[in-house]
Amino acid sequence: MTQQQTGLLSGKVALITGASSGIGAAAARVFAREGASVVLFARREKELASIVDELKGDGHKAAYVVGDVVQPDDVARAVRFAVEQFGALHAAFNNAGYGVGRTPLHLMDDSVYDQIMDTNVRGVWNCLRQEITVMLEHGGGSIVNTSSVGGLVATPVAAPYVTSKHAVIGLTKAAAAEYGSQGIRVNAVAPGTTRSEMVAQWFDQNPGVEEMLHQLTPQPRTAEPEEIAEAAAWLCSDRASFVTGAVLPVDGGFTIL
Ligand code: NDP
Repeated sequence: MTQQQTGLLSGKVALITGASSGIGAAAARVFAREGASVVLFARREKELASIVDELKGDGHKAAYVVGDVVQPDDVARAVRFAVEQFGALHAAFNNAGYGVGRTPLHLMDDSVYDQIMDTNVRGVWNCLRQEITVMLEHGGGSIVNTSSVGGLVATPVAAPYVTSKHAVIGLTKAAAAEYGSQGIRVNAVAPGTTRSEMVAQWFDQNPGVEEMLHQLTPQPRTAEPEEIAEAAAWLCSDRASFVTGAVLPVDGGFTIL
């Protein structure tokens, strides 16, 4: 499913969180191919280094910062690094996220709730605050947060994840409302089931679940990470210049049924 280079993000500097695997790693490749200088952010250094080597080998501008989105100082360091390294921050894809579950709400451990909310909500909160601060200084920018179909509809035995991804949409709309007049657009993508490490593990542990999800999806298949990354790249680009506060499902129609 390789797309042609169109220069969609030519001259932009973009920060991508959760870039060590899955959707974020795909976004690093798509954003770079579309002309952006990319800063990859996640906790696993080996994976980040390997993707950055690959991108540089292909002639792209790329660098990484190791850190945890839950830690405001780590996020601040990444944003500062992007500006120092590449001169600005025009775009950010706040994609780091985490979900475990398959446990009924009343039996779920409080620590699971805390960890999911910390990563998925506080993580996006931390990123928004740092990115907006810098974008205000540089005349604007475009931010995309990763929600989920679980941010639009509920799925059983995943209450903390569903709660966290609904909150990401709330944060997206709140920030869009607040900063639209200052040149900052904030949108969200809501992926359906997408091939990634997180999902591979889930499919392995639950035989038959992939087929069951396909039956509930008008386009009956699992998305490739690049398909989510393409939507994020467009939202980050100037071609989406009057789009803000939007939630774009990239779900093969899952949420229309
Ligand atoms: P992966 O597990 O492949 O990627 C998750 C990424 O987030 C990794 O790069 C991981 O890197 C990073 N991450 C997790 N926690 C932290 C943290 N505390 N600080 C920094 N980075 C962190 O899964 P996906 O690509 O599928 O997930 C990406 C996003 O898409 C998530 O927000 C997920 O909720 C969302 N999503 C995924 C769907 C799917 O079906 N795959 C469907 C809907 C939404 P590291 O471990 O190196 O820190």
